[in-house]
Amino acid sequence: MLVSAHARFSRVSTYRWQNCRIQRHVAAHGRKGVDHERATTIGEGSVRVHTVEHVLAALSAMGVDNAIVEMDANEPPIGDGSAQPYVDVIKRTGVATQDAPRSFFDVRDTMHVESKTGALLVLLPDETFRISCTQAGPNNRFTQFLSMEITPAIFEREIAPARTFVFYEDVQPLMEKNLIKGGSLENAIVVRGEAVLSKEPLRFADEFVRHKILDIIGDLALVGRPIRGHVVAVKPGHAANAELARALAREQTRRSAMAAPRTIPTGDGGLDTDEVMQILPHRYPFLMVDRIIGFEADNKITGVKSITINEPFFQGHFPGHPVMPGVMQVEAMAQVASILLYKLAKTSSRVGYFMSADDVKFRKPVFPGDTIFIHAELTKSRGNRLAKAKCYCVVNDAVVSEGELMFTFLDK
Ligand SMILES: [Zn+2]
Repeated sequence: MLVSAHARFSRVSTYRWQNCRIQRHVAAHGRKGVDHERATTIGEGSVRVHTVEHVLAALSAMGVDNAIVEMDANEPPIGDGSAQPYVDVIKRTGVATQDAPRSFFDVRDTMHVESKTGALLVLLPDETFRISCTQAGPNNRFTQFLSMEITPAIFEREIAPARTFVFYEDVQPLMEKNLIKGGSLENAIVVRGEAVLSKEPLRFADEFVRHKILDIIGDLALVGRPIRGHVVAVKPGHAANAELARALAREQTRRSAMAAPRTIPTGDGGLDTDEVMQILPHRYPFLMVDRIIGFEADNKITGVKSITINEPFFQGHFPGHPVMPGVMQVEAMAQVASILLYKLAKTSSRVGYFMSADDVKFRKPVFPGDTIFIHAELTKSRGNRLAKAKCYCVVNDAVVSEGELMFTFLDK
């Protein structure tokens, strides 16, 4: 989908949202002052795109998993403050069915987030994507409730037209600080006291709660896959919505690590033992990875280690009762993570040192005959000096150990 295109810019930055990319053609001028608490911002490197929730809501609710959105500004056009203009563009462009199966996020356990401002979001298992929302303004004015399943048809008819609204007392301080331009009724409904000020009459008697639902859909789109679950939201806001989205994304990462392949692929895309040994200085009996079976995006790696009864540590750990020592699993995680860091650094003049291991948990014993799939995901890297990786060891689709490892780099 092409929301807008522009040819005269020097640099293009790409933001990933599942496989939908928002490309921002970065113009030479700097960023405008933006109120970050009122909108959702995504970014990569030093570039940010603001107020993406309405376009993401339209894309995800209309069933679009893959799209490229090109932009020539640091936020999408606000339009009339609703998601209607984006729905129109999606319908005009058309949606094509692709041959890959769609991946869902199925809610298995109840999750919730709560904020100091009184926002409460609860997520419950459900076969459909459903949102039940309570909106309440200052002093509980304009309290509204609505509950509905979100399908493309329902979204288009019931949610997309609902416009952004602001309470005058909430925006007054921002207007005084010149953070937002006041007076425009083109792209927001302004509520002052009991009066509703807008260019056209309310589109629904409960337009405010409908817009809150719209924002929840947009913010949860950052999870990266359609959700099957019931969101119960009380006084939701972008900060709480984003916190729930982050919790879901973390849970998704954990689940992907658990769904390890049982068969070990051969061929390109990984590293064989020889290549592993060219990167790692470790040797028998301390080389804890047999093979790298794949890299994903540019921050994930999976290695494999077959555990046999001939491992030297089984002689002493324990006689008559061979169990793989947990610290050897942490060592395996560190070795696999180092290979990822080595690949990213693209230099052999510096070596990574294992500095710390946090939140290490040993969940299940590992026995002779087990094959361990070792997953590492780079979660943080700072100035080529420090890196953090979340690691899991998986046997037969179950996490046997996990930990967050930190590395530092030193010149050789
Ligand atoms: Zn909104």
